[in-house]
Amino acid sequence: ILKVRHLQKNFGTHMVLRDIDFTVHQGEVVCVIGASGSGKSTLLRCINRLESPSGGEIYYHGELAGGDGFDWNRYRAKVGMVFQSFNLFANQTVLENCMAGPRYVLKKGKQESRELALRYLYKVGMVPYIDAKPAQLSGGQLQRVAIARALAMKPDVLLFDEPTSALDPEMVGEVLGVMKQLAHEGMTMVVVTHEMEFAREVSDRTVFMLDGFIAEDDTPEVIFGNPRNPKTREFLSRFM
Ligand code: ATP
Ligand code: MG
Repeated sequence: ILKVRHLQKNFGTHMVLRDIDFTVHQGEVVCVIGASGSGKSTLLRCINRLESPSGGEIYYHGELAGGDGFDWNRYRAKVGMVFQSFNLFANQTVLENCMAGPRYVLKKGKQESRELALRYLYKVGMVPYIDAKPAQLSGGQLQRVAIARALAMKPDVLLFDEPTSALDPEMVGEVLGVMKQLAHEGMTMVVVTHEMEFAREVSDRTVFMLDGFIAEDDTPEVIFGNPRNPKTREFLSRFM
């Protein structure tokens, strides 16, 4: 569904991504782990085009992103993103936040947008809060709303950038629970995370990034059980 080839990103002379090759198949859950500064967020931001890559290609369903006739608006609608910091509109209610994408990006009618928003708010258990403003919600609730908002766009792939690392510990579980449920329903997901238990349990593949490279890309059994790269082992030993 997504294929990244020779992706590079420089900020000035700083090479943040060097020759990244990375494939995500339909229905796969890929977790991306690695030290701070290794380029995990930049990789997601390049895939989602919040950053423009300095080199390399991204293929979406086999089509070159940015090639002739490529529809960036459609691509952005289909490749959803959930951020560490939620990025909800503070002055809108929970329901309005989730309706905005279907209504203004997908150009659906008000009623249909509302139904879509409610369907996914139900899925994340946030229907009781539809009239609340973001300031009235806990971090875990905000992140569940942010997930519903992304789902209301009916994405093909959801990218998550450390969705639980801004949360108080007691709220991490509720968000990981929603993500696990999505994974079991077959949602294609790329999850940058420091939650090693989640990666181990839920991912089909775990990718270890080191200094802008993919140092290892394998099943969680190999990555967490018997990594081939000594650097993977060294990184993981900090979590044990
Ligand atoms: P973390 O675990 O802390 O989120 P990360 O793996 O997500 O780290 P990135 O945020 O992708 O790392 O950053 C990789 C490197 O790129 C860092 O050295 C960072 O300073 C640099 N960087 C990221 N964004 C920019 C930017 N807009 N301008 C300049 N340098 C940047
Ligand atoms: Mg990051």
